[in-house]
Amino acid sequence: MIVILNKQIKQKQKEDIITFLTNKGFKVKEIVGQEETVLGAVGRTGIDHRIVAQMEGVSSVVPISKPYKLASRELKKEDTIVQVGNVKIGGSRIAVMAGPCAVESEEQVMAIAAEVREAGAVILRGGAFKPRTSPYSFQGLGEEGLKYLRKAGDKYGMPVTTEVVSPTDVEMMSKYIDMFQIGARNMQNFELLKEVGKTGMPVLLKRGLSATIEEWLMAAEYLMANGTDQIVLCERGIRTYERATRNTLDCSAIPIVQKLTHLPVIGDPSHATGIRSLVSPMSLALVAAGANGLMVEVHNTPENALSDGPQSLYPSQFEKLMRDVQSLSTVVGKSLERIPRMIPEGLSNPNNITSSDKISFQGERGAYSELAVRRSFNDNDVLPCETFEDVFESVMKGDSLYGVLPIENTLGGTINDNIDHLINYPDLVVVGEQHIRVIHNLITLPGTKLEDIKFVYSHPQGLAQCSEYLKNNLPNVKTVPFFDTAGAVKFIKEQGDKSIAAIAGAPAAAYHKMEILEAGIESHPNNYTRFYIISREENAESFLSASKPNKAAMVFNVSHNPGSLFEALKVLSDYGFNMRKLESRPIAGKPWEYSFFVEVDVLDKEEAFNDVIKILKEQCSSFRILGEFNSSN
Ligand code: PEP
Ligand code: MN
Repeated sequence: MIVILNKQIKQKQKEDIITFLTNKGFKVKEIVGQEETVLGAVGRTGIDHRIVAQMEGVSSVVPISKPYKLASRELKKEDTIVQVGNVKIGGSRIAVMAGPCAVESEEQVMAIAAEVREAGAVILRGGAFKPRTSPYSFQGLGEEGLKYLRKAGDKYGMPVTTEVVSPTDVEMMSKYIDMFQIGARNMQNFELLKEVGKTGMPVLLKRGLSATIEEWLMAAEYLMANGTDQIVLCERGIRTYERATRNTLDCSAIPIVQKLTHLPVIGDPSHATGIRSLVSPMSLALVAAGANGLMVEVHNTPENALSDGPQSLYPSQFEKLMRDVQSLSTVVGKSLERIPRMIPEGLSNPNNITSSDKISFQGERGAYSELAVRRSFNDNDVLPCETFEDVFESVMKGDSLYGVLPIENTLGGTINDNIDHLINYPDLVVVGEQHIRVIHNLITLPGTKLEDIKFVYSHPQGLAQCSEYLKNNLPNVKTVPFFDTAGAVKFIKEQGDKSIAAIAGAPAAAYHKMEILEAGIESHPNNYTRFYIISREENAESFLSASKPNKAAMVFNVSHNPGSLFEALKVLSDYGFNMRKLESRPIAGKPWEYSFFVEVDVLDKEEAFNDVIKILKEQCSSFRILGEFNSSN
């Protein structure tokens, strides 16, 4: 049953209810939702619900109609996000696991790990204990295989999963792996489920060859009842009368399961079809059906594979598939789960990456962005990056603790690229904001006079923003566009030629020890740039703890119906939230459809904002908070 608690329930009252139910033989689990806190009570014993309903602090009692209880959506309305090492599975993410069917040798798993990692897989798979139909087929390398898998996972910074076939192996395996896999043939091996459940570790639960959806969810219930709530379901094809494919992929199971359970569900197109050429199209079908991820078999030389070669993708095919999945993910309102592209050499534990405390920004040393970095951070080292995306990647990788990115300029408008990157990096959040005034300077080699100058280098925007000054004071110089302002200063220094000057910020002049011949030469004094400070989710707290959030940024998609955007914005207005900014961004793969990016003021409105989030999550086809942060500097 589900015991819904009063919002104002006292701790003592809650403890009394839990004790009462436990004494009656129930297993009790507290679930704190955004909407309400409930106790899930499951057990073999029957009890008159009215007794519980009348206890102090209880709002109501609802029986769970399904035979699976802990796994049911009735008990827990919000999606469960399963954490496997540094990877999250569930909600609006698409996590792709890939690797060979079986670990065959250290070299083989290392080579495949490198390929799938580079293509964007986030979890490495590979069987060490293979439940083969024939006793004469390759049975796997056993514990030796686990060692190779772990080694490859560590080298490439990927959590690993592998199949467990015997309850007596559970303890030994738990030392090597991040997630157990229960194979289709063992879905109803209840002793195995119990033993694996007891570890509390994440489990990938394949659907049995002939299992109904209900039986599959009952298997998940076994795991949950024994102690783990970190379960990912995996549709891998079922046995039907059709022989053209190895199994029949039950795509419709995906949306059905998502209605019935809060657990994430992924698809395995490899075992579902058994045919290489069908793996990519069926992967896309699974993503289109709403899958939270994929498990795909990849082999560097499938023709020599010891098992399942005919259904294994070549690395190049997998790479192409990942690009297609990336495009499709935005169409279904999800984002591809990513982990750092690479792990720094020598780090053996991917789950315990210690970030350096560098701050990354885009541009050369001395760029305006560096000024924004200095306003927010005192002594940290900086990490200049070539592109905005490199800043996002460096924060993802842990090469930098925070990234500082321009989001808007008062003259140039929104920097859309960075909004799009924020949408595409679900593990990164906005933790702060910084404003700087952009003051342009005419910078030269020391000792240069105005009349020496024949060329002025700068970013095209810098040149445009100083056009008045140039026209009045240097009418005969030639302006030369450069890729960034600070880079232009570096360039003129390298040239060592007094006939060329640059337009850039003061930090660039200082960094390169050049002279500011004229300061503040911009036509428009109201030239401000607003920056976001981003971090990985787990590092957000340490930045935020110093300040109260007064602003929030969010992104959502609405249905293609009259008034749907209006209805979403109306929720903000109904709850008295002042909107600061609204942008629409085209959704890749959905021509003429848009995601909406909104900023609102949230100071001292925490509770109302939680209500707004709850409503918008229900109302919008997808919804994500990009960050709640303090914008004052
Ligand atoms: C596997 O993924 O290695 C496997 C054997 O799959 P299934 O249990 O779905 O057949
Ligand atoms: Mn296989």
